Amino acid sequence: MKVLKFGGTSIGSAAKIKNLAKIIDNGEEKIVVLSAMSGTTDKLEEIASLFLNGKKEEAVVQIELLKKKYFQVVEELFSENEYLIKGKELIKQHFDYLLSFTKDVFTRYEESAVLAQGELLSTILLQFYLEEQKISSVIIPALNFMRIDKSLEPDEYYIRENIKRELAQYPDIKLFITQGYICRNAFGEIDNLKRGGSDYSASLIGAEIGADEIQIWTDIDGFHNNDPRYVEKTFPIHELSFDEAAELAYFGAKILHPSSVLPAKVKNIPVRLKNTMQPDAPGTLITENEIEGEIKAVAAKDGITAVKIKSGRMLLAYGFLRKVFEVFERYKTPIDMITTSEIAVSVTIDNPKYLPEIKKELESYASVEIDDNQTIICVVGNLIAEGKGIALKVIQALEDIPLRMISYGGSKHNISVLINAEDKVRALNELNNKLFKFDE
Ligand code: ASP
Ligand code: MG
Repeated sequence: MKVLKFGGTSIGSAAKIKNLAKIIDNGEEKIVVLSAMSGTTDKLEEIASLFLNGKKEEAVVQIELLKKKYFQVVEELFSENEYLIKGKELIKQHFDYLLSFTKDVFTRYEESAVLAQGELLSTILLQFYLEEQKISSVIIPALNFMRIDKSLEPDEYYIRENIKRELAQYPDIKLFITQGYICRNAFGEIDNLKRGGSDYSASLIGAEIGADEIQIWTDIDGFHNNDPRYVEKTFPIHELSFDEAAELAYFGAKILHPSSVLPAKVKNIPVRLKNTMQPDAPGTLITENEIEGEIKAVAAKDGITAVKIKSGRMLLAYGFLRKVFEVFERYKTPIDMITTSEIAVSVTIDNPKYLPEIKKELESYASVEIDDNQTIICVVGNLIAEGKGIALKVIQALEDIPLRMISYGGSKHNISVLINAEDKVRALNELNNKLFKFDE
């Protein structure tokens, strides 16, 4: 059994849904995990926030706009009258539900229910279309098996037992469809795996059923060696190790949700990134295999804040770093990069929500300097095997760019530098020219 996840752009229109049906209709056993149609979750977030702020009339305007878009999709998707009627009835039901919130109080609980509508709609629309095409499939509802516990981590045992129970009901079915992103929480309420979480759903499902392969289908042919949004010449990477993929996903390559690498890695299930627009392109295969001695890719992560904590007390002292890290831990703020000198330590964070509190606590024993608007540039590959000169190459490529922090040796897969956000595009291009060979 394979798990195939299709992102919002892969089902962004009636034509794309038809294209997707062709890709999945090959007789192989599979679970198809769907996101919402592109733009939908953004819109639902907007609608939920209008409700939360008591702006009911504006919420209704946005609901009607989105509804219109879905009616158009239905018109283009189905050719038989029976399915046109079924499709329209489905849209009406879901949008009536959204409109019903104009009468009720609206809390965080309702917000999750609103956000879930995109995936609920896309899966049923696909299933109706397959039915119209006489392709047999079954929806296994994510809300029946996908669950997070009280610490918001996936409840693996629950997921495994319940997905197996769902699948066992249909011994003759080869094509299953389910919703990405949505789940239930420890209280049984509708919840979600956070934005972009459909990849994570696919990986969790793949891991719990012991899938042969997890495929993530998007609109690009896999991980590229650099960010195609900022660099003109890039190429797809055919093979990556789990660790390299995790670094790239975390440090800015938008193609894969960073949490989705771990479940696959733990169960050693290959992950393949594929392009719906070019289904025959090889994409990127992520496995435990490490290819020695190669720089694989460069990625950038924006929105980083650097915090420098300086104290004479750090000199020759032990326990100072623990004291510093405990402050970040108390405010549930993850640290990405760290560099130290004898009297100071610099760390980076990507979530500055509790920065004022953190700063205040640290200032009771150290001076604190904050630089926001920073970018981490990360170079990924099996870099230790590449051996001598790799750090030099990276730093030389960036010789004209001020470097705020450099991190090398934390793992063998990554060299990271911290720069001002305004230097990002230049840094990505310099690294592209100097680290990779291109066939002319
Ligand atoms: N539909 C959700 C989102 O837009 C989940 C996903 O696409 O992965 O964030
Ligand atoms: Mg995504």
